[in-house]
Amino acid sequence: MSNADAADATRTHRILVIGGGNAGLSVAGRLRRAGITDIAVIDPNETHYYKPLFSHVAGGTARASEARRPQRDVMPKGVEWIQDTVIKVDPKAHEVKLAAGGTVGYEQLVVCPGIQNRWDGIPGLADAIRTPAVASNYEFDLAIKASALLREVREGTVVFVQAQGPASCAGAAQKPMYQACAYWRAKGVLDDIRVVMLVPDPTIFGIPEIDAELERKIAEYGVELHTEAELVSVDGNLRTVTYGADREQITYDVLLVEPPQSAPSWIADSGLAQAASGFADVDVRTLRSPMHPDVWALGDAAATTNSKSGGALRKQVKVLVENLLAVLDGREPTARYDGYGVCPFTVSRSTAVFAEFDDARRMAPTLWRTSYRESRRNWFIDRWMFPQVYWHGILQGRA
Ligand SMILES: Cc1cc2nc3c(=O)[nH]c(=O)nc-3n(C[C@H](O)[C@H](O)[C@H](O)COP(=O)(O)OP(=O)(O)OC[C@H]3O[C@@H](n4cnc5c(N)ncnc54)[C@H](O)[C@@H]3O)c2cc1C
Repeated sequence: MSNADAADATRTHRILVIGGGNAGLSVAGRLRRAGITDIAVIDPNETHYYKPLFSHVAGGTARASEARRPQRDVMPKGVEWIQDTVIKVDPKAHEVKLAAGGTVGYEQLVVCPGIQNRWDGIPGLADAIRTPAVASNYEFDLAIKASALLREVREGTVVFVQAQGPASCAGAAQKPMYQACAYWRAKGVLDDIRVVMLVPDPTIFGIPEIDAELERKIAEYGVELHTEAELVSVDGNLRTVTYGADREQITYDVLLVEPPQSAPSWIADSGLAQAASGFADVDVRTLRSPMHPDVWALGDAAATTNSKSGGALRKQVKVLVENLLAVLDGREPTARYDGYGVCPFTVSRSTAVFAEFDDARRMAPTLWRTSYRESRRNWFIDRWMFPQVYWHGILQGRA
């Protein structure tokens, strides 16, 4: 549907999904496979990204082209794509307003527009990210920039920054660092580079087994780790970052930053948000809105208690679809999401650590009991298997 058509739209869909990312296409595909018809997904973007590969792109272990596909090629068969941007929802009228000017009605609404990068959230960061020495693995173009920057370094100071949450796969800021260190070591220049990692928390991750595994790699590469080191400001001209309660400063030659992130503001403007966070309010187990029973939410935009990740969606999608099918069938939603999340840490250019944990930050391995230990098998799964499962299974609602 073109923007012009959308402007005239007055149609009502049985299922309307806001956001055609990991969550939206998985839910739409799974509902379609369960025999549900009249499903539409609203998303403005021509391109669909597999974000976990952004870290590999930045770290120099994947080509950028592997992380994206045309949205029309991955839209599940039998699902309508409305190429537009949602600007507001009227949950009482069961209507969604589009940027192009039209409205679309729904019987059941699934809200999953993801999380927003807020480059304006740290003083100086929005200007600094446009300077030649600053990049990120949190956006496609910036991951390409990061890859080129890290490849060229032979000496000097390289600073990596992990944002204070809420964040999409918060630990992802660390991944290009380990990969770059392995590369610099192979080139024989690691000892000439001061590598600094700033994390906002008291430890590198927050679960003892995983902390131990990551700290071992931090020591092996000689990384200078600063904990409780929240980014305060960046000066792109002077190439300095200020961080932590004591406002310490470091001058960098290259800086990789994970930006602060927040919920899209129209969720709160539509009366769908949990007041404290701005993310879409849901029962964290059933993923149904407590205020509007015909509204559901999942993924990075939902006010769930898990760590936001694609791995969490593997479980959320199944729960939401099972519950939505029950409601369509006149039954109570009884499926429960257990709060599972995952962060695969690429700790070299051929090994990875899987941090699998629940919303009480307890270890919750699903792959195998020792998936938190560094291994080549983990790398193979993260680098090679998951992307294929994503493009061919998850987005079609098959996995
Ligand atoms: C750098 C990085 C590395 C990551 N690594 C991992 C990893 O290794 N493992 C893992 O499990 N997870 C990882 N994640 C997290 C994972 O990518 C996200 O949790 C997942 O993509 C969330 O899916 P989503 O559908 O909620 O949001 P997204 O996939 O971001 O999709 C949101 C969609 O909504 C659309 N949209 C936005 N606003 C609107 C609007 N107003 N109207 C209509 N459409 C809209 C967007 O165009 C987008 O297509 C990583 C994330 C990042 C950023």
